[in-house]
Amino acid sequence: MTDRTTKFALALHGGAGAQSGRSYARAEAHLKTLAEEGERMLAAGASAVDVVEKMVCEMEASGLYVAGRGSAANSAGYVELDAAIMDGTGRNAGAVAAIRDVKHPISAARALMDKTPYVMLAGDGATKFAAKHGLETVEDPDEYYTLPDGTTAEDTQTETLAHGTVGAVALDTYGGLAAATSTGGVFGKPEGRLGDTPINGIGNWADGEVAISCTGVGEYFILSGGASMVAGGVKLAGDSLEKAVWRLLDDVKSLNGDGGVIAVNKAGDIVMAYNSDGMKRASVSSETPVTATTFAPCR
Ligand code: ASP
Repeated sequence: MTDRTTKFALALHGGAGAQSGRSYARAEAHLKTLAEEGERMLAAGASAVDVVEKMVCEMEASGLYVAGRGSAANSAGYVELDAAIMDGTGRNAGAVAAIRDVKHPISAARALMDKTPYVMLAGDGATKFAAKHGLETVEDPDEYYTLPDGTTAEDTQTETLAHGTVGAVALDTYGGLAAATSTGGVFGKPEGRLGDTPINGIGNWADGEVAISCTGVGEYFILSGGASMVAGGVKLAGDSLEKAVWRLLDDVKSLNGDGGVIAVNKAGDIVMAYNSDGMKRASVSSETPVTATTFAPCR
């Protein structure tokens, strides 16, 4: 095992669909509390993959974001969820797509990563896998699902808004990197629609150099190559993390999309960038205090 250091870093996002003029105070307060909890875990020697799973589980359970409890029904009237996790240490991954009635899709993705040779399961197969592995289920969807912070019932009827995917990226004190991302997808989506979130390499990525989580209209992140372009920029082109993140976001924008990215690297640098109105986000590291904001400029 690699020697332990005191260096760690953590970034969280609650989605880049935030709209100017709305308040996301509850989500910001929640992200701040989570960052403090993540800081304690990392300082105590928790692994990056355990921390990002825990952070995303808490966000899924809160109902404050469009993920887990805060997810809206698709156009056929039921909730389908997507999640992906990746552990840069040993380069392993798991993802579930269009899974139903599972409280923590990210833990289903984690179970797939830890317990099987597969990296992605979709639909009924994913739902059955989660049940088989004893993951908590939603017994009464009408009672369980709720409107996220800053969102109106009308928003959920629109077909144009991406809203509040959640994600976490971390560097642990052993030098390990991990990323986790979970979403209820975009509002008004048709049955079976998948975005970038459940695709490791697009909406989520971690290797030995970087960990990345994306948010925004997933179609554009797929068309732009997503998180793997950031990892490639750093590894192959020698870009700084910030430059590589903006290269992706600028490409998304050139396709008329928008969104945001959080990323950390093995040096402990944190980048949280977006080209939408705002991105709910928080960060902390061994060198920097906890911050949480939605609309503070990022460039
Ligand atoms: N990326 C997510 C998706 O396309 C949505 C979001 O980030 O808000 O499903």
